[in-house]
Amino acid sequence: MDIKKILREAGIVGAGGAGFPSYAKLSDGADTLLINAAECEPLLFTDFTILGEELDTVLDGARLIADALKIDRVLLCVKDHNAQSFGFSDGETLSHGVTVRVLPDVYPLGDEINLIYESTGRLVQPGCLPITQGVIVYNVETLYNVSSAVRDGKSVTDKWLTLGGDIDKTRVLRVPVGTPIKKLFKQYGITVPESHVVVDGGPSMGRIVYPLTAVVGKTTKGILILPRDIPAISMKLRTADRHVAVANAVCCQCTNCTEMCPRALLGYPLEPHRLVRASNEVVRAMPEAFTSALLCCGCGICEISACGQYISPKAVIAGQKKILAEARIRYPQGKEKVEPTADRSMRRVPVSRWRSLLGVAKFHRAPQGDFEEFSCGEAIVPLNRHIGAPSVAAVNVGDRVAKGDLIARAADGLSIDQHASIDGVVTAIDENGIRIKQK
Ligand code: SF4
Ligand code: SF4
Repeated sequence: MDIKKILREAGIVGAGGAGFPSYAKLSDGADTLLINAAECEPLLFTDFTILGEELDTVLDGARLIADALKIDRVLLCVKDHNAQSFGFSDGETLSHGVTVRVLPDVYPLGDEINLIYESTGRLVQPGCLPITQGVIVYNVETLYNVSSAVRDGKSVTDKWLTLGGDIDKTRVLRVPVGTPIKKLFKQYGITVPESHVVVDGGPSMGRIVYPLTAVVGKTTKGILILPRDIPAISMKLRTADRHVAVANAVCCQCTNCTEMCPRALLGYPLEPHRLVRASNEVVRAMPEAFTSALLCCGCGICEISACGQYISPKAVIAGQKKILAEARIRYPQGKEKVEPTADRSMRRVPVSRWRSLLGVAKFHRAPQGDFEEFSCGEAIVPLNRHIGAPSVAAVNVGDRVAKGDLIARAADGLSIDQHASIDGVVTAIDENGIRIKQK
């Protein structure tokens, strides 16, 4: 069995992050596979629901990867409050030889580097990949998709997500990839008031989307409706230039952001208090001096929890990362060997406090009842919502397709195949993706 080929052809990407093609993580040299069930973002219950509904399938997906790569140790990494809900205890062995690893209820353990350290005690050195510490990490839903692809020949056509925020009820849904958000809202009677925005993802790291045009992608973990005036959102509404201007003007160099940064607490040479002093012109002029920006995971602790001056080091650093990417500058690997700081465990942010700081505590309501299936007979399957080259359309307008049919092929290099998420006819192919309508 060529598992790499199966994952690429099934269109599997990391369902909980930036959309890294899952086949590309398969490399020799690992002795540990982590199932990332940390689900760090408040208001999201997606992985929690998948574990409740499909635990055996998830563990089977993990076992398939572990066997293919001859990995001995598979750990299901789950936060303490969720472990209690499932009745898991630390060290317990589940089916398929998977061991439970209970994590503390702190944010941000969904960050791969923090997750690996917390679960294994191994520290991925700055700029290096997890495989350098013998570890591979997959999200819960990704492993569900791996099992479905290998056992049943199913490609990724559906997405699990949490529909929540400032609405009457939190729901976990399974919907076709490419489902227009406006159709979801119509189905559930949701109107987005002027005072609110729609977020694709969690309140900390998700992005604001326009509800009339946004669609569900393979990385959409949640669709949240949230007020504009809570800290989590007001920072997202500020423009990139404004973030830099505010930081340059009012930072008092208190260093709180660096002292609380989860990557800095692991010993990474990331100092947001220094990075916020630079204008983008300076970064463009001497990008090599700002490579430490590439060590930021975008967790937002610095803007929401640390800074008392309403500055977002996270946003300033995101702009710097963009400049470095344009200049094709990477972090120089193996530059230094680092160790976590002695006070790391005292500086972590409990998840309940994180919810309050973001302003979303009152919206954190667990879904009632089973997850729901939803399909509206229309989908726009994006071809570019993964890391790597966009997939190349393999159908024409007017073609009739069935759910699961190949509609776009992986481009050369890092890329994936894409599949019809509903039965129907292709009605458009453009920069948004391949539009399919049930007819
Ligand atoms: S977002 Fe801020 S706190 Fe988080 S890793 Fe980046 S600099 Fe550190
Ligand atoms: S916490 Fe805020 S004010 Fe303090 S150094 Fe960081 S950005 Fe500047």
